[in-house]
Amino acid sequence: MEVQAITSDEIFQEWLKKADGKTLKKFFEKKKVDFRREHVSAVETVYSVSKFIVVYFQKKIPEAFVAGADGKVETVTADKLHKYKFYDFKGKKVDFDQWKGDTSVPFLASIRRVDCQKCHGSGTHNCDKCSGSGRVKCDKCDGSGKRSCSSCRGKGVVIIDLDVYDVNNKKTKVEKNIPCEKCGHTGEAVCSKCGGGKSVLCRNCEGGKNTCKDCKGFGVYYQFKYEAVPFLSQRKSAMVFYKRDVEKFIDKKDVEQLLNSRETSGLSLYNIDDLNQARLVPQLNYWTPEADKICNEAKKEFKKLMKNREVEEKQKIMVFPALQLRCRSVKGKSFEIFGIGNTNNFAILTDGFK
Ligand SMILES: [Zn+2]
Ligand SMILES: [Zn+2]
Ligand SMILES: [Zn+2]
Ligand SMILES: [Zn+2]
Repeated sequence: MEVQAITSDEIFQEWLKKADGKTLKKFFEKKKVDFRREHVSAVETVYSVSKFIVVYFQKKIPEAFVAGADGKVETVTADKLHKYKFYDFKGKKVDFDQWKGDTSVPFLASIRRVDCQKCHGSGTHNCDKCSGSGRVKCDKCDGSGKRSCSSCRGKGVVIIDLDVYDVNNKKTKVEKNIPCEKCGHTGEAVCSKCGGGKSVLCRNCEGGKNTCKDCKGFGVYYQFKYEAVPFLSQRKSAMVFYKRDVEKFIDKKDVEQLLNSRETSGLSLYNIDDLNQARLVPQLNYWTPEADKICNEAKKEFKKLMKNREVEEKQKIMVFPALQLRCRSVKGKSFEIFGIGNTNNFAILTDGFK
């Protein structure tokens, strides 16, 4: 059975019928001429047409994604928590096709606070130099709080020389011990470093505590779980393949949505190996160098997915004829129109017309 490929004129007329009036005016209105939709002509607008093919099939979302809470647990300090993206689905389901993130994400509700095991939640350790007291033995007085008196060199007495005269008025020197007044006869002085307190502040810590290196002083960690995104039970997703230079104009997601949402007709194959020139040309009536690439790419992906059981060996694979119309308006504005499907049953996408 041959497919009736769409013609560029068909696409153009269909596009023109539905194109936004305001934008159309902006692109095509000539000065001093009343603008009418019918004035826009394909001949004057379309300057090049190229054919391409679109290959489309559905794949199942792997069970692992749907059920697979791998339950990975992450443990971080409080200052790192804000770097993660948490999710709260509030009991709602997510459409797999629309979902751009990972299939397993950190759940807000799973956040737990846990004490640091190393410091038991305190965020600090006792200083090992001062055993947590914050003070150490004074090294100047070796913890006695005392020093020997410098005036009497620790003797408690000082010797003074007295001039003594006899009957002949002859002078002699006499040594006399007197109590040291500086130290009150004790020979000891208060240590100048510790002021007699016997200890000084420990330099290794603050108040006897050192910050816990493991938890950076927070004392606690936060733990959270990665859990599976709750996807809708519709466990299908579309795979679309088409030529590279169209990709820069239209998003694959748009094509997927379009083909998912309407019964655009194309060729149906039930064997991935039929995706080749010999099998398709009789029905399409054309072939392009890119078409080989598209087929090979789709085939490779299909076989990979088959191994994971994301596609069935005999499932439907659709091939759509497609046209790219490169257009330039009378005002010199460029845009593209894409038509995908058969006569009377095709989908239209545009780029640059806005
Ligand atoms: Zn700690
Ligand atoms: Zn200390
Ligand atoms: Zn001292
Ligand atoms: Zn003294």
